[in-house]
Amino acid sequence: MAPQDKSRKPAVAARLLNWYDAHHRELPWRTGPAALSKGERPDPYRVWLSEIMLQQTTVEAVKSYFTAFVRRWPSVSALAAAANDDIMKAWAGLGYYSRARNLKACADLVAAQGGIFPDTEEGLLALPGIGPYTAAAIASIAFARPAAVVDGNVERVVSRLFRIETPLPQAKTEIRALVQQMVPSGRPGDFAQATMDLGATICTPRRPKCMFCPLRADCDALAAGDPELYPVRLAKPEKPRRRGAAFVAIREDGAVLLRKRPEKGLLGGMTEVPTTGWTARLDGETSPDAAPFPSPWKRAGQITHVFTHFTLELDIYRASFGGRAPQGHFWSPPDDLHGEALPTVMKKAIDAAIPGATKRRKP
Ligand code: SF4
Repeated sequence: MAPQDKSRKPAVAARLLNWYDAHHRELPWRTGPAALSKGERPDPYRVWLSEIMLQQTTVEAVKSYFTAFVRRWPSVSALAAAANDDIMKAWAGLGYYSRARNLKACADLVAAQGGIFPDTEEGLLALPGIGPYTAAAIASIAFARPAAVVDGNVERVVSRLFRIETPLPQAKTEIRALVQQMVPSGRPGDFAQATMDLGATICTPRRPKCMFCPLRADCDALAAGDPELYPVRLAKPEKPRRRGAAFVAIREDGAVLLRKRPEKGLLGGMTEVPTTGWTARLDGETSPDAAPFPSPWKRAGQITHVFTHFTLELDIYRASFGGRAPQGHFWSPPDDLHGEALPTVMKKAIDAAIPGATKRRKP
């Protein structure tokens, strides 16, 4: 189908919705088509929370966090009343920690408005942590607004459906315009979720299951013979590398010395073991001499962690340390480590020095 062939787009949307009615994913935050047809409405709090958690994070990773959050904080007002540290601890391991800080700021604002979320993209965009994609998703799913919701899955489906030759990210505007033309006014939220589900389960990045696709008769990339060529992407430059060292100090009873990172910046407000700065230089930053306090440091390996903008290599050192916690630090007993607000990179660092330490749960 040529992109300008608007006349067939409603038929494409209808086929997609029929498929969604039968094959949608059951997700803990989702109000499925059967419930909607009985008059149930999506809870904007659950839609918002899930969309924030799903930013740059997989559905599988989000499921258990979402369930734990809504069990503990069942409404936006309950979340607003929570302590920052408790939210950071509950978020630990999900990554992109500025989301957790914005989550609390947003909950505070919405709770102050009586717990009512704005029901338009514009209103949602004014809230902390909500960008154009998230505003469109919430407006569409929670409030049935005819917004164009375009995530990576949708980009892939639409690029293939219309065989878009413009490479991403330049193609985003074109894709968004095509999606906007297809959004059915009656079921915009289901259409958004149907396109995402098709991309996640059928129109996958590798080996799309075109045999089972409800849009196979409409798909230009399939007709041309090689859907995997789409979406076209410009080659990504390699991420820069930074290096540093992390120091795991262990008390006689197994407690680990921790400190809180500054509120602003990367991993702001999260908990860490003492580390050097993370630098692109190859000088002495990664030696034990750079430790914030002297101890008989022994090398315990190296870990690599990939952030959005750089890859970090941390040399890990461990030492027994018997003294009082230095100023700004605290001891976390072995049974408490699992519940600390440790980002994944710090869990890796501690587990490199003490295998399995962050996975141990309170008996
Ligand atoms: S036919 Fe294949 S490539 Fe085209 S939309 Fe369906 S799964 Fe994707």
